Amino acid sequence: MGREVRVGLIGQGYVASTLAVGVERIKAGEIPPYGVPFQDYLTDYKIKDIVFVSSIDVDEEKIGKTLYEVCKMYYPNLNIPETLKNVVVERGVHLNSAKGLPIKARGLEEDGLSLAEAVEKLVSLWEKAKVDVLVHLITTERTGRLTSWRELEEKIKRGEVKGLSASHVYFYAAMVYAETVKPVAFINSIPATLARDPVAVEAAAKRNSLVLGDDGASGATPLTSDLLEHLAERNRFVRGVVQFNIGGNLDFYALTDPARNLAKEETKSSIVEDVLGYNAPHFIKPTGYLEPLGDKKFVSMHIEYISFNGAVDELIVNVRINDSPALAGLLVDVVRMAKIALDRGYKGTVYEINAFYMKSPGPVGSKSISRIVAYQVLVDWLLRNKALEKIPRYSVHNFIQMLREYYNLQSS
Ligand code: NAD
Repeated sequence: MGREVRVGLIGQGYVASTLAVGVERIKAGEIPPYGVPFQDYLTDYKIKDIVFVSSIDVDEEKIGKTLYEVCKMYYPNLNIPETLKNVVVERGVHLNSAKGLPIKARGLEEDGLSLAEAVEKLVSLWEKAKVDVLVHLITTERTGRLTSWRELEEKIKRGEVKGLSASHVYFYAAMVYAETVKPVAFINSIPATLARDPVAVEAAAKRNSLVLGDDGASGATPLTSDLLEHLAERNRFVRGVVQFNIGGNLDFYALTDPARNLAKEETKSSIVEDVLGYNAPHFIKPTGYLEPLGDKKFVSMHIEYISFNGAVDELIVNVRINDSPALAGLLVDVVRMAKIALDRGYKGTVYEINAFYMKSPGPVGSKSISRIVAYQVLVDWLLRNKALEKIPRYSVHNFIQMLREYYNLQSS
């Protein structure tokens, strides 16, 4: 099979479809890898080594269609690569995750299978596809931490649907796959609590597998954390932070539901205290749905701070950001780094990957550092693991090397 990263997608929505189309277009040489931080710098896996081998959804409109057909629904004016005709979207478990959305959703458990049989079906699907990495991208859902692995297992065996989330059942199925087929990396790109859940991390570690997450950091939150770092480094005292998003895609529609919105608020808000070291008053959450905005969300940010001699300054930032491509580009790295980590025997979770790519990085208790710092931490991890072909221009290692050369020249 050669050098491959075999990717299974869970939730074939806007982000998953953008990821599939973008990667295949890069592979076909149609577009440069803009928006992919580590482009083709990773030693072990190039972008051309990513292969999409499985896709799962619960939307009747998508099940049975090829990835090619589903991607065409999102990008009707693009030339969708023919390679995406090889994968068909299969039915997953629903557990009410799509409740309240304007789609007709039906899961395996509503289609005559018990939950345990549904898990078996998912595992055999992934086994046939020989997945290395699963990318979790279903509609935003909020989950608590697991009390114990045994309790989750018992609930699924008893078919106790009440109180079970789709995210937990997918993660459980991934762990059964890891136990019976081969180790796997589960990339939790949504705000469900998994990489921050000690029970989930331990379950992955026991199976020589990984859970990365939680919640991809793609848009305004990483920018806010970098601005806060800028102010903190200059000892400017932040008096308050406001950041809101309004978008018109299905995920923003889903976020009009208060429980889902709370999940986002939780993963977004941790940055303030983590970066500043004190909890400045803040309002950071998705605030609205406006259909004509489509996938290109509107973000507004206001930060007020005290500078030298009591001066009060304000930062006001307004942006329109294409939501799905922002996350999809990052996932092109994460799927490859997840496989690199698996190959090198990492298990449980990897903070260095989570810290750069995720809003609320696991494991539990770890800090959400600014992305400027997280980038350096990640480069260092990649270098330690001999996984970088080239030291990126923006890396501290690069500047240190430059300084060394400079002083050597001076002294000679
Ligand atoms: P989307 O609504 O376009 O796609 C979600 C897909 O999941 C839909 O196709 C839906 O039918 C499917 N789904 C729902 N429940 C499912 C289940 N139980 N099993 C299988 N499929 C299921 O959303 P999106 O914009 O692609 O975002 C996906 C996820 O990524 C969201 O949870 C969001 O919070 C997270 N996320 C997105 C961004 C971003 O877009 N920039 C950033 C960070 C996190």
